[in-house]
Amino acid sequence: MFDNYLGIVVCASKYFNAMEMRELFNKDVTHFGENRVQDLLAKQKDLNDLKITWHFIGHLQTNKVKDMINQIDVLHTLDRINLAESIQKHANKPVKCMIQVNLTNEDQKSGILPLNLEQFLIEIKKYDKIELIGLMTIGKDDDQVQTELAFKTLDELAKKYELPFRSMGMSNDYDLAIKHHATHLRIGRKFMELLD
Ligand SMILES: *Cc1c(COP(=O)(O)O)cnc(C)c1O
Repeated sequence: MFDNYLGIVVCASKYFNAMEMRELFNKDVTHFGENRVQDLLAKQKDLNDLKITWHFIGHLQTNKVKDMINQIDVLHTLDRINLAESIQKHANKPVKCMIQVNLTNEDQKSGILPLNLEQFLIEIKKYDKIELIGLMTIGKDDDQVQTELAFKTLDELAKKYELPFRSMGMSNDYDLAIKHHATHLRIGRKFMELLD
């Protein structure tokens, strides 16, 4: 799967238990992204013999930061200043972060609105434990037109602010994400096809 894609395919592993993740690892899936801190910590324990790159792709509560921030390789969902503050307080070294941007105008979705992005970028400069590497967004369910526009906009924003990475694209829309220069796909359900 994704043999011709040169970027990173992160397996969104909320659908899989540790045994299934081990099976995927044996099929060369080495990047995993968890949505919940408890699941991340439990699975890291079960899979600590494997050389996995761990991503966090879910909404992160400020009070959970201290439990996990030194255990992950990339945070995809930096979306507010108090989260940056908590990372600054608890991280032992700079953490690779992407800012989640809300590009589909859905109120229930987290993420910085594009009109607030420039100010947010200025504000997080003072946190030396935040190593900003890119932007992340989530498409709109059942709306390929809005989703493509969101991916195109994320690509343009990343270019404008000279950020190298773009985390976008899931099982239903990764083709659009690749078209707009995604560097990290987050794929969940489609990985079921690889399991016996
Ligand atoms: C679950 C999830 C994905 C993957 O979703 P699929 O549609 O199963 O590929 C990607 N990103 C985030 C943030 C997720 O929660």
